[in-house]
Amino acid sequence: EDDLSMMKNVADQVSIAITRVRDEDSLRKSEERYRMLLENSPSATLVNRNDSIAMINPAAMKLLGINNIDEVMGISPMKFFHPDYHRKIQSRMSKIIKGKEIPVVEEKIIRSDGEIRDIEVVSVASFDSEGPSFQVIMNDITERKLAEKELFDTRNYLQNLIDNANAPIIVWDRENRIKVFNHAFEHLTGYASSEVEGKSLSILFPRDTLRESMAKIRQALTENWKTIEIPILTKSNDIRIILWNSAKIYDKSRKTYSTIAQGNDITERIEAERAFKESREKLELALENGRIGTWEWVIDSDSFNLDSRMEKMLGIEPGYFENTLSGFEKRIHEEDLQHLRTAMTKALTEDQPLDTVFRVKHENNVVNYVSTKALVEKDNAGNPMKMSGVCFDITEMKLGAEKTLFLLNEELLRSNKELEQFAYVASHDLQEPLRMISSFTQLLAQRYKDRLDNDAKDFIQFAVDGAARMQGLINDLLAYSRVQTRGKQFSVVDMHDVLGQVMNNLQLMIQESDALIVNDDLPEVFGDEGQIVQLMQNLIVNGLKFCKTAPRIHISSKEEKEYFLFSVKDNGIGIEPQYFEKIFQIFQRLHPKDKYGGTGIGLAICKRIVNRHGGRIWVESKIGKGSVFYFTILKRQTT
Ligand code: ADP
Repeated sequence: EDDLSMMKNVADQVSIAITRVRDEDSLRKSEERYRMLLENSPSATLVNRNDSIAMINPAAMKLLGINNIDEVMGISPMKFFHPDYHRKIQSRMSKIIKGKEIPVVEEKIIRSDGEIRDIEVVSVASFDSEGPSFQVIMNDITERKLAEKELFDTRNYLQNLIDNANAPIIVWDRENRIKVFNHAFEHLTGYASSEVEGKSLSILFPRDTLRESMAKIRQALTENWKTIEIPILTKSNDIRIILWNSAKIYDKSRKTYSTIAQGNDITERIEAERAFKESREKLELALENGRIGTWEWVIDSDSFNLDSRMEKMLGIEPGYFENTLSGFEKRIHEEDLQHLRTAMTKALTEDQPLDTVFRVKHENNVVNYVSTKALVEKDNAGNPMKMSGVCFDITEMKLGAEKTLFLLNEELLRSNKELEQFAYVASHDLQEPLRMISSFTQLLAQRYKDRLDNDAKDFIQFAVDGAARMQGLINDLLAYSRVQTRGKQFSVVDMHDVLGQVMNNLQLMIQESDALIVNDDLPEVFGDEGQIVQLMQNLIVNGLKFCKTAPRIHISSKEEKEYFLFSVKDNGIGIEPQYFEKIFQIFQRLHPKDKYGGTGIGLAICKRIVNRHGGRIWVESKIGKGSVFYFTILKRQTT
């Protein structure tokens, strides 16, 4: 505007000068003065008379790129104007002549070197005897136009940037009126920018925190881009928590300003943080109530961290722990250190969770039992980085369990004692009266044999048989009860010897039944020789007994990883599958007593003996085809 008014001024002066020239009629003198004025004017000016340049000043020559004045004097000024403007110029000139006020116009010129530039033009007409002439004053505005365009582009660019930024952006003026409200902000609040632009910033804030929020903003603006947390109220009355950055925008005078602010919706984050905090608190509560301590060992830096509960468990005064593995190990009972180290190494190398128990020795020789479980964290290459675990004091639990175990043991001892007592009663107290019954009935039979009839003799014989049978039962029961209580120390037992003894014991029975007993090569086992003889004998006796033809018995063995498997195979009557389990129970017999004899204790004793040797016993059989009894004996067994 300054340039423009100056140009107008100059133009006015020029026309005044010309008028004066006419008025004073001292043409030469005034022309001289006009020339001087023109010559020294900073505004590019030329005089156009009859479509030819009558006068041109140095500023105009510079503007049009003319070096020599002779080149242009007398030629049409139109040559320098862009053809697009020729018609406009013509019509303007005729308007000027008619005395119409013509504003400043923008045109393009073509300099003599061909360069096109933007100019602002003011034309004034003057008249003399030779007709009208035009003073054309030109101002090069090429640079200004370029700057304007750049400004426009920048503005446009910024506008786009703001409009489409992901973050909500808002600008408000000194009076807190919203001036810019971008798409992200529309999305956040549900307001269209047209709804809020020009309105007060306060419509975005919940009423109850409005004052506080405005104060916070003012405070934050004393430091540029300071982050503050402010809740905002959406159109649908939701409250979102926004993290704000704001900055002042100054105008040219550096006085008034608006504020630009960029928000970050952290509602979800805050909610997640709250939930996290809550679950942490719950966890903490659980750890506290469960008296569970936590620990963490960062392997690389050997930093070992404990929580307060764990410190307490290890008897460490708060703040006195060294935070290293060796600091931790110092608290472990020396007898448990080795196995704890082994367990930790195993967890680190074998990809297994740590799960072990160790003792902690406190002052006054108080010992606590601590159970720990931990997981190993590995890096991407699979190297262990960290071990983190929990600990809980199981002293009370352990004492409780020990007490229960002790009580159970007591109970077991008591019942064993009772059994022994029973065995004693059975062997001594019961056998004695039995012997008396049988010997006195026999005496009775002898003394009064002449006076007794045959019926009476039969009755007496029944009584004698019954007593003998009862004695057998008692003896078997005694043997059964003694498997546990009277067992011998285990030693190496050669199964060939065992078989030899059995054959010896059963010599008569084998001969009478015309039996054939064969065996494969048999191993040495570790056990109670007397009991193993009894076991084998019971099985072989059954094989001989429960047979309708000449018995064939085959004994073989097989070595497995942890035990020997033995089998005793016969060609007897066989057993129905539903009795496979039952026959190993005490007093269980499948046949009436008179047919095969026996008390139903033999296999129960076998089972007890096998159990004492860490094995099991079972049968496979087919009716009429024979049976195979299997049993196992643990390879290394200590009593
Ligand atoms: P018992 O003194 O009657 O022989 P056991 O405990 O030795 O008592 O056997 C229980 C029952 O199992 C026997 O009465 C018999 O019915 C059956 N039994 C045992 N061994 C055999 C066998 N090798 N073949 C067929 N049945 C058998």
